[in-house]
Amino acid sequence: MRKAARGCNGIPGIWAMAPKLICPKCGNNAFRVDTNAAVGQELNGRQIVVSSPVMVCRKCGNQSLTTWQADELARLTKKAAGMQKR
Ligand SMILES: [Zn+2]
Repeated sequence: MRKAARGCNGIPGIWAMAPKLICPKCGNNAFRVDTNAAVGQELNGRQIVVSSPVMVCRKCGNQSLTTWQADELARLTKKAAGMQKR
């Protein structure tokens, strides 16, 4: 029997990877996870909106990214840019 990597169901160890996330806007440290937020990104001078997992401040709604979320966002942005070729 093969053992799969732990914590691979959907969001991998999200709190473990962001133990001290602080909202840059209001200093609050309570966040919820938005797994499908619309995030605007600029890539090569183009505005691209992608659906990406983010942390959302429970107090002011500001979006923050953990390290893996930033990686995921970069990946999704590049993918979306590739699909928007004209
Ligand atoms: Zn906040």
